[in-house]
Amino acid sequence: LIQLYIPLNFMGMLYREIKQALIDIDDMFSILARHPEVSDRPGAKPLAVGEGTVRFEDVRFSYVPEREILKGISFEVPAGRTVAIVGPSGAGKSTISRLLFRFYEPSGGRILIDGQDIAAVQQASLREKIGMVPQDTVLFNDTIGYNIRYGRWEADEEEVAEAARLAQIDTFIRSLPEGYDTPVGERGLKLSGGEKQRVAIARTILKGPPILVLDEATSALDSFTEKEIQDALDRVSRGRTTLVIAHRLSTVVGADEIIVLDKGVIAERGTHDGLLAAGGLYAAMWNRQREADEAREKLKRAAEEE
Ligand code: ATP
Repeated sequence: LIQLYIPLNFMGMLYREIKQALIDIDDMFSILARHPEVSDRPGAKPLAVGEGTVRFEDVRFSYVPEREILKGISFEVPAGRTVAIVGPSGAGKSTISRLLFRFYEPSGGRILIDGQDIAAVQQASLREKIGMVPQDTVLFNDTIGYNIRYGRWEADEEEVAEAARLAQIDTFIRSLPEGYDTPVGERGLKLSGGEKQRVAIARTILKGPPILVLDEATSALDSFTEKEIQDALDRVSRGRTTLVIAHRLSTVVGADEIIVLDKGVIAERGTHDGLLAAGGLYAAMWNRQREADEAREKLKRAAEEE
């Protein structure tokens, strides 16, 4: 009987492996389906990045023909500077990051990096030069070390640990029984939103791209985690051309320019102090958020006192 049991047991294991692999492939296809590949034009050249200036020129975009999401957006992120995009939910902020990464093509206008229209360059070369810290990081079903090393396969253990340290996730990883070899993802340890984002930051630090896109998480993080992530983001963006898609305002105070998007157009632009003084949409959003934060803190203190 045992002779029969071993192969059957093995087949069961094989079955589970294959099933999981199919689930993984399924995930991959659903990701690709959401972002149908924009293909290279014939004769497309690799993107040559010098300083890394990003320019949007009168960019228009619609997901569906009857509804235009971006209605002629122009701005520049000078080399090494940080520009933040803020605005009400649904204003089109994340759409801007998707266009820069060329998940979609603008229906009008151009996006230039160091003078080259990104629609005319090789897709792979564009993605190589842009580091993206997305809102919601999807981790591979592998070890946490593998998930960081994905930023640069040639990196050695020391470099992986250094990137993790800069992203403020190294201490957490070392506290795990299997350290960097801890399996994560669907089949492993489930990481919180903040931890996943820090893995994505470590990955991006390792990749070291000249241009960064930070699409901040929408979900509220506790203020300690938020501060840790902010410190990590500040470190990774120093000296790099950075576009921050901000869903909360606390993270944009230090940006060189803040662009306020509303219903697909730029409603206001300036620095934090300038926009507050102007008393427009940004100032209203700032005050509302401050009130909400204060109310949340008050509730928390009351709960702690009980
Ligand atoms: P939030 O702060 O809530 O994340 P946002 O400003 O980043 O909002 P976008 O994600 O850019 O907003 O979306 C802008 C608009 O485009 C929204 O009304 C959204 O419903 C719509 N939209 C986004 N993705 C798609 C899609 N794949 N197909 C159709 N419409 C979409």
